[in-house]
Amino acid sequence: MSAPITQDVLTIPRKLPEGGRINIVGLTRNQLLDALLEAGTPAKQAKMRVGQVWQWIYHWGVRDFAQMTNLAKEYRALLTEKFEIGLPEIVTRQVSADGTRKYLLRIAGGHEVEAVYIPEEGRGTLCVSSQVGCTLTCSFCHTGTQKLVRNLTPGEIVGQLLVARDDLGEWPIPGAPKDETRLVSNMVLMGMGEPLYNFESVRDAMQVVMDNEGLSLSRRRITLSTSGVVPEIARTAEEIGCLLAVSFHATTDEVRNTLVPINRRWNIEALLAALREYPRLSNSERITFEYVMLDGVNDSDADARRLVKLIRGIPAKINLIPFNEWPGAPYKRSSWERIQAFADIVHKAGYASPIRTPRGEDIMAACGQLKSATERGRKSKAQVAAEAAAG
Ligand code: SAH
Ligand code: SF4
Repeated sequence: MSAPITQDVLTIPRKLPEGGRINIVGLTRNQLLDALLEAGTPAKQAKMRVGQVWQWIYHWGVRDFAQMTNLAKEYRALLTEKFEIGLPEIVTRQVSADGTRKYLLRIAGGHEVEAVYIPEEGRGTLCVSSQVGCTLTCSFCHTGTQKLVRNLTPGEIVGQLLVARDDLGEWPIPGAPKDETRLVSNMVLMGMGEPLYNFESVRDAMQVVMDNEGLSLSRRRITLSTSGVVPEIARTAEEIGCLLAVSFHATTDEVRNTLVPINRRWNIEALLAALREYPRLSNSERITFEYVMLDGVNDSDADARRLVKLIRGIPAKINLIPFNEWPGAPYKRSSWERIQAFADIVHKAGYASPIRTPRGEDIMAACGQLKSATERGRKSKAQVAAEAAAG
């Protein structure tokens, strides 16, 4: 039996002990306003100060209050005393032959999470984590072999983007002509963890990321991937409004129960009902169905046909992911001919069916391979295999 499907909320408190400084990164505008007021900012000025501090941190990439030159010296000193601009620390950075960068980041408590930057022609995507580990135990996912350690705070989620932009040197230079090409133009919540089991933190972090006086990634450039936490799907549409991807991976409840065990709680029918509502609620075009290609498990022609039948009426793109193998994984990647044949059936039914090119394979940076070094090996290979077999 797999671990129970529960939502453990282990977010660390935002307020630090007496004398500790509050991290500004990840506070929403309203939270920052409250914090500045509490620190003694005169009420009349507070809103303006929020705007100024916000721009320094998220537009200019400044990391030191002393550099916020449009603020009075005494006010800068006050900010330095009460606040910090805290980012996750880079433990290692690996750069793949194809340019993909994988960051292993250390966060409070000594935990580690990974973020991956994937450069593409004319754009670049940052894949961020939302939890250390995952409560769910999808049998093909490396993260799923690691127990949930804790939820990330909004600051730790936003911090992954700041760290990547620091590393890529992507901050405007004052006075220089505006450069519209962005290295990190898109963001996907497809790293470690189930974002909808850390809803509030993810929502607040996305509010910061989407704010157009700062990081300014539009909601259409952010894709949240969920394994199917049905009750939170409508909320995602209403409170975040980003694009949605769903880890579908199977066309019968029997198979999906073993691959994506949350299916035992919310089955395919319940999931599809929530997905049908999403485009209308979020005013977005289409949903991405992620489908990992596992040799002999979910990759038959019959599966492809069932898939297009199931999703009929939902504006969708089907993203076929060749299984990324990891040491001890209980599955094999489908052959290229099989993936192609599956894609053809889906395509002929009128859906875009791109096959995701594995990126950063040489540094184990591909989807589903992320796992922090400190938590590695918590379960044995045998245990993983046994759980997969038991379903
Ligand atoms: N927890 C969320 C987001 C993180 S996983 C979710 O499950 O959707 C991001 C995507 O990678 C999901 O579609 C997941 O099913 C897929 N994935 C996980 N392990 C994989 C692997 N070994 N090979 C290919 N895709 C994998
Ligand atoms: Fe968690 Fe997503 Fe991996 Fe499933 S696929 S174990 S939900 S990270």
